[in-house]
Amino acid sequence: MRAVVLPAFHAALELEERPVPAPSDGQVLVKVLACGVCHSDLHVVDGDWARPMPMILGHEGAGVVEATGPGVDRVRPGDLVTLCWAYPCGSCRICARGRTWLCESSSAGRHVLPDGTMRARRADGTGLRQYLAVGTMAEAAVVPAAACVPLPTGVPAEVAALIGCGVATGVGAVLHTAGVPAGAPVCVVGCGGVGLSAVMGAALTGAYPVVAVDLAEPALALAARVGATHVVSGADWPARVRELTGGVEYGFDCVGSARVVGGLFESLAPGGTVVLVGMTAQGATVPVDGYRFPDRGYRLLGSSYGSSVAAVDFPRIADLYLAGKLPLDALVTRRTGLDGVNDALDALRNRAGGRTVIVPP
Ligand SMILES: [Zn+2]
Ligand SMILES: [Zn+2]
Repeated sequence: MRAVVLPAFHAALELEERPVPAPSDGQVLVKVLACGVCHSDLHVVDGDWARPMPMILGHEGAGVVEATGPGVDRVRPGDLVTLCWAYPCGSCRICARGRTWLCESSSAGRHVLPDGTMRARRADGTGLRQYLAVGTMAEAAVVPAAACVPLPTGVPAEVAALIGCGVATGVGAVLHTAGVPAGAPVCVVGCGGVGLSAVMGAALTGAYPVVAVDLAEPALALAARVGATHVVSGADWPARVRELTGGVEYGFDCVGSARVVGGLFESLAPGGTVVLVGMTAQGATVPVDGYRFPDRGYRLLGSSYGSSVAAVDFPRIADLYLAGKLPLDALVTRRTGLDGVNDALDALRNRAGGRTVIVPP
């Protein structure tokens, strides 16, 4: 099998030929059918987030179960599965509270399998970590069984892949983290895969108006196609958004930027909520006005993985897609092979909008 390996920060990704590993206890061998190229991949490549190397990159993947190791009963060979990049341990305090997306005991954050091992190896025997324990920029991957979420048949693999990160993150930020009610004015800043998904989530809940903000015209055109009622660009966007809405009640930063958060506070109605969905570089801070924030009763929420319980919410999103209520096909703007990943990362750097999906042969 071939896999995309990041040898070190800022290095070009390398395509390596590796033997296909067999799944051990509690593990599943998945043939990867599609993998989205997400900003979280770019943050690692560009050194914004410290992560151990070398690593097989990719975390927004879907595929078909090829083989299961001993003790696996949640999936069977032939199942279409989306991979959850924050698989829950199922037994820690956080999981017991139902906040499985925040599990602290999962090995996903260490980029190894639940038993602490690395199943993929380089030719010289060096262990290869898999990003978030899945490492889906590959023709196949051995992953934790708990990371496999079966989806209903009829969902295209590329849509299934996007459900596993960008869609769950964006739709979930609106539905689960913020709980946006019908009729609430909403602003989404940043119309990449996550932001467009947040726009779809806002349209689904009946939020109004749904204002999308981005610097790039193609991204705004896509936002209008998937449910934005108004689109805004330009440096004066906070004032424009205020004019259009009379003050938004929920503002979503899908970029991960101090300037965006500052702009959202400027466009907010009293009692409004800013939701941080995009992530900044490690160590960066965002501005909170210590006078206005309490005086105007603002709220600031962090949204990880759209506060999604993967086993429940991934199939639900798939059902909404199949019912025509979430136009997820519109997110896929480019397709490439594993050898096109460096170009796909450049498209993200250049804010080309939408999503590139890697489709292994
Ligand atoms: Zn992602
Ligand atoms: Zn847990």
